[in-house]
Amino acid sequence: MTGNVFDPNYGNPAIPESAANPGDEIVQPANAAPLTDVVELRGIEQVYGQGDKAQVVFRNFSLSIPDIPDRGQFCTIMGPSGCGKSTILRYISGLQNPTAGEILFKGKPRDPQKSVPMVFQQYSSFEWKSVLHNVTLPLELQGVGRREAEDQAMEMLKVVGLEAHAGKFAKYPNLSGGQLQRVAIARSLVVHPSILLMDEPFGALDVKTRREMQDFLRTIFEAQEDMTVILVTHSESEAVFLSDKVTVLNANPAMIVADIPIHLPAVRDDAARIAPEFEHYVAQVRKALS
Ligand code: ADP
Repeated sequence: MTGNVFDPNYGNPAIPESAANPGDEIVQPANAAPLTDVVELRGIEQVYGQGDKAQVVFRNFSLSIPDIPDRGQFCTIMGPSGCGKSTILRYISGLQNPTAGEILFKGKPRDPQKSVPMVFQQYSSFEWKSVLHNVTLPLELQGVGRREAEDQAMEMLKVVGLEAHAGKFAKYPNLSGGQLQRVAIARSLVVHPSILLMDEPFGALDVKTRREMQDFLRTIFEAQEDMTVILVTHSESEAVFLSDKVTVLNANPAMIVADIPIHLPAVRDDAARIAPEFEHYVAQVRKALS
């Protein structure tokens, strides 16, 4: 474990009183069994190359994201370029295996039946398919019939505000950059994943759209019953606005330098961005990164 949200000393104790939101606190009964982690990386080694040229990205690296039942949490990983952030997401998604070490889901090895979807910075939609059929795809891969898949996909397009665009080809400029990322998010959420991975999903968007997408993503996250999001971003303010916890890494090999819980209200809007504690958290994250 890298930290425990129930430990009163977890993270930085110097959070202003006003930053705490009692309604958001997670209280564990004294006799409750310890929580498992929704995902745990244990004893990870990643070495590229050999001899003098070997690059050690991870050496005995461990990272755990506690399962918060019926709630999930929004976790962000930050750190310098090349420290291994995307590699961590690739391990969790199953796209890459480490040189050594284990990736456990609720204490168990990966269930091959369960995919862990990832939203990338590059628009990853299938341009030759409609918006609707981009979203039906993962359901059809799971064996859901086309009619049922279309119904479920349409419901998800309503959630992301794209129902009016269902019949369009999923490509720019038919859809804007923000809309294309909504397609990717809808395609990920339609299978009701317990973990959603996001690798700099808003890095290619303009400032205004990026902010709108942050609002949208936090709202979507709050509406899910029990989903953990693991985001990689370089934006300190994006990390603070979206997250319940920000984990900061350093590099060569990667180590966790800070695990910063963000005690902003669960429901976030522009008021959260101008709250004094928001800047406090941004400064805390920036310091950990420097
Ligand atoms: P980050 O997401 O933090 O920028 P990555 O996880 O993409 O970093 O990569 C971590 C390190 O691993 C980088 O230094 C990168 O150059 C190296 N790396 C990743 N994939 C390969 C590969 N296939 N061969 C050699 N080095 C790689």
